[in-house]
Amino acid sequence: MPELPEVETSLRDLEPLLRERTVAAAQVTWQRTIATPMLDEFLARIVGQRFVGFTRRGKYMIFQMEGGDYLIVHLRMTGRLSVEAGDAAADAHTHVLLTLDDGNTLHFRDPRKFGRMWLVQNPSTVVGALGPEVWDRSFSVAALAKMLAGRKAPIKALLLDQRIAAGIGNIYADEVLFAARIHPARSAGSLRPAEVKRVHAAIRDLLARAVERGGSSLGGASTNYRRPVGSEGITGGFQDEHQVFRRTGQPCPRCGGPIERMVVAQRSTHFCPHCQPYA
Ligand SMILES: [Zn+2]
Repeated sequence: MPELPEVETSLRDLEPLLRERTVAAAQVTWQRTIATPMLDEFLARIVGQRFVGFTRRGKYMIFQMEGGDYLIVHLRMTGRLSVEAGDAAADAHTHVLLTLDDGNTLHFRDPRKFGRMWLVQNPSTVVGALGPEVWDRSFSVAALAKMLAGRKAPIKALLLDQRIAAGIGNIYADEVLFAARIHPARSAGSLRPAEVKRVHAAIRDLLARAVERGGSSLGGASTNYRRPVGSEGITGGFQDEHQVFRRTGQPCPRCGGPIERMVVAQRSTHFCPHCQPYA
């Protein structure tokens, strides 16, 4: 699933292709992709609107349209946006097509069909419950410590909770905890102040470096994510810097011992038991 670095990279790649473009025509072939409003209203309202603003909240892309609406997109498991030349054919996985006034087309492809789009006047109706952005001043060490205090849930589960810090998913939660040398199953409330500080620093550092490398692409042909460049897309580069994620049995880059896998918060979790001791 695309996480903060992949969504941020997608948005930056799309912006020069969409900025000031007007939607000339719209076509939706999988109705449930449109979360709100009803399909007829979505089609009627989106046509004629121009892309003027590009922001991200957590794993959501927010396109501000000139007509006063916001087009919000969540890629979920396998969603991908791409801008392609006008004659590029839609395939079986293209569920939304927006024809632009320059003749290009914005495709939303999503083999697993969990991705969603909203067209709303007020973005907070969709993203209002999210916690702080990780680079926001409000996401301080003290604020993180306060959110973790007294919590019995594993620290890994709370890193995945979008109300704590918006945008972290399974890849970066594992990498953050390895960098901070914290066992993923430790209860969040048990972290000492120095440990909370290490988690906070690792979140900001890792996500920034992942954005610089264009995010993480995993899994070969059926990848979780490709950057929206050209019809085929291109891979990100941060997967080459993963220390533990999906490296079960391989040597830990820090101590050389084998990386292990366990299930925490119902999610596959990768860690080094030597560098991230439980006690
Ligand atoms: Zn190790």
